[in-house]
Amino acid sequence: MSEDSDFREVEQLIKSFIEEARLELRQRWEKWTIDLSQNEIHEVVGALLARQVTLARQMAQCPTIWNGHIAPIILRAMADVFISLTWVLKDPLERSRKFVLYGLGQAVLQFEHRKAQIADREPTGEEKMLIEASEAWINSQRFSFLTDVNVGSWSGISTRQMAEEAGCLDFYNYVYNPFSACVHSMWHHVARYNLRQCANPLHQYHQVPEDPDFPIDPYNFYLSAKYLEKTFHAFDEKFSIKVDAPSAYEHLCEGLDKLSKSQNEELAMPAESNPSEPETT
Ligand SMILES: [Zn+2]
Repeated sequence: MSEDSDFREVEQLIKSFIEEARLELRQRWEKWTIDLSQNEIHEVVGALLARQVTLARQMAQCPTIWNGHIAPIILRAMADVFISLTWVLKDPLERSRKFVLYGLGQAVLQFEHRKAQIADREPTGEEKMLIEASEAWINSQRFSFLTDVNVGSWSGISTRQMAEEAGCLDFYNYVYNPFSACVHSMWHHVARYNLRQCANPLHQYHQVPEDPDFPIDPYNFYLSAKYLEKTFHAFDEKFSIKVDAPSAYEHLCEGLDKLSKSQNEELAMPAESNPSEPETT
């Protein structure tokens, strides 16, 4: 993907994808009948849907991160959103409340830590502003079910169990779990992405550290669009919602197909040698 014309086509794909993803989100919100007596469901589900659009958009806007060093960090975050959302949708009222309670508990903890850190001195102007803003946000949470803050795990179970209960264990095994290696910089990631064999045969083929560049791979963009589509689909199915907006994901697939066909036609041209990424699961 080095030709100028290809790049312009990808730019156009990115632009349309973002516009369509945002339109899809807006239409879903407009078509959803809001019940203010259960507002926590609407705010939690709405926020998670919007978060997924944000993550997919950020991926779309940054082709320089479409590689195995960074893209999996975003994709793993999207997998988290998908698993949380599908788990919440199985029992929306109770689980939305759990989601809010846990997040608020964490916010209160951070607030207390920050206060303790400066307990024996005058806070700076900036610290004072931060503390007041945190306190104001916590106090602005007016859900009627809030009686106490909970500082345990938000769902009370592991992500794997959540995925199992939500019926998406495959997604956990084949998406969430493999991408965790990159997120946590584990051995099976860093050994493949940040080591190469030493060229000196006297060194017994040990490995040496490196920070390799990889070519831009639009497959990462495609994956983020696919996870967004799965998230929208889970929402539509639960609340029987059908939007008229075109599918950002389907349009992107068509665009990428066209692009790869035009690239194949140019294959007669000798390609420059590019470093390639290690194979991943
Ligand atoms: Zn060496």
